Amino acid sequence: MTFEVRYNDLGGRIGKLETLHGTLDTPAFIPVIHPVKQLIDINFIKKIGFKAVITNAYIAWKYYGDEAKKRGIHKIINFDDIVMTDSGGYQVLEYGEVKVKPREMAEFEIDIRTDIAVPLDKPTGYGLNYNNALENVEQTIKNVQETSNIIKNKSTNQSNESSKKIDIVWAGPVQGAEHLNLVKRSALSFDEMGFNLMALGSPVELMEAYEFATLSKIIYTLKKVIPSKPIHLFGAGHPLTIPLAVALGCDMFDSASYILYARDNRYLYSNGTTRLDGLTFFPCSCSICNSFSPKELLSLDETSRIIELAKHNLYVLKTEVNSVKNAILEGRLWEYLMSKAHCHPKLMEAVRLLKDFDNLDHGTSLFKEKAIYFNEPYDQYRPEARRFREMVTKYKPKEKFKIILYPETKIHPFYTSKEYSKLKNKFPNTEIFSYNPYLGLIPSEISDIFPASQNLTCYEYDSNSLAEQYPTFVNSLIHFLDKNKKEEIIIVANNFMKQIIYLINRKFESLKSSYNFKICNYDENFVFERLEDILK
Ligand SMILES: [Zn+2]
Repeated sequence: MTFEVRYNDLGGRIGKLETLHGTLDTPAFIPVIHPVKQLIDINFIKKIGFKAVITNAYIAWKYYGDEAKKRGIHKIINFDDIVMTDSGGYQVLEYGEVKVKPREMAEFEIDIRTDIAVPLDKPTGYGLNYNNALENVEQTIKNVQETSNIIKNKSTNQSNESSKKIDIVWAGPVQGAEHLNLVKRSALSFDEMGFNLMALGSPVELMEAYEFATLSKIIYTLKKVIPSKPIHLFGAGHPLTIPLAVALGCDMFDSASYILYARDNRYLYSNGTTRLDGLTFFPCSCSICNSFSPKELLSLDETSRIIELAKHNLYVLKTEVNSVKNAILEGRLWEYLMSKAHCHPKLMEAVRLLKDFDNLDHGTSLFKEKAIYFNEPYDQYRPEARRFREMVTKYKPKEKFKIILYPETKIHPFYTSKEYSKLKNKFPNTEIFSYNPYLGLIPSEISDIFPASQNLTCYEYDSNSLAEQYPTFVNSLIHFLDKNKKEEIIIVANNFMKQIIYLINRKFESLKSSYNFKICNYDENFVFERLEDILK
């Protein structure tokens, strides 16, 4: 299997997955298609640009049996691009048992010539106690091992017949849900068995309750052990889940949400769902929303209304995936995710976990063409800022030079600013650092390094808890003062810095005496002579 990554940002990636029926551009949303009673015309789904659909192999097996083997799943559902098949595990969750063995299911999925296949699993769902979850995970691993043997046998037989390199992409169904060590256990087992795609079972209950924080922890756990292979996330069909899941490292999603929401008269929009009967205007210009007013859509007979609403919902999901892709290309996935997070407290809760996810730095470019934005205190944790502060801890100022810490100006890099030239002319034997609430201290010599060179910063000066909101700045400053105890340091302190120093003095009383710095007040009447007096 080939999965090629073209662009990254945070954990998000734009990639290409090769399958028997063509290349899947990821991140991809894959609509769920019912193999027997599909309400939305599959040609519509194809026409609006979905390159892949997912259908249920268990239902196809029960309903079509040998006919499906003869005609192939593509003919059965009338879709000639990429088809993914789920195996019936979900039916186990819904109806208890399924009357098929893992071996039969695996052979059936091979015989119907699916492109991406999932072995028969036993989902854990959500809220299952640990022992029962463990039992399901062990059962799934056993099933998958059985499937894996079938795949190996079949592919040896096939390789005698043809030299085709591309084969069915089999996904390892990762179960365990909130029991994170079980998630790890199943992922590692499937990795070892040679599965190249991981399909994360994400309980419907979690999604319905908007438990994005728990979902984030599950994805993070999986990505820690499987960092490179593509990840499919089951059941993610909400415009708020998609950017979060992509940012954490998921590459594909499937869901029947477009039709399930439509049946319930729920209208998707970029930040959530709303009830159709509560809408006066459509916040969308898709072909459906252009043809009807909310009132007109409501007055259609039930089936037509569901169909039209489901079509609109599909447009929204497609737009969402495209927006996320654009954000990755622009290097602004963080900004995009934060703007979404402001639309729902549950998403914000999940985004607040990002500061402890240490695997997001890897995918974030060292250099970006566009400036990054620092809008709110939480942005101090974005990987670019984290990385920059880390780099500065290793920076060594020149010996026997006095050190000036000066507020950052609007001009980047700082060494090209008027203030810098003035400082350098007046005080030649000094080393000058600028400072920024999000990036900490910035040595002028490396102020042309991204993101010190390219950022737009929102300054708030009046908040009472300002210093408490920037712990990373406090830490950077303390670290710097500790490291340079022997040097003479003059801090040209604006209001932000004054509050930080006040906090340091208050909190670190014992350390205070060992620090060696002088303060020069920086306000609107600031003149260089003031600094000159201190430096004398
Ligand atoms: Zn629309």
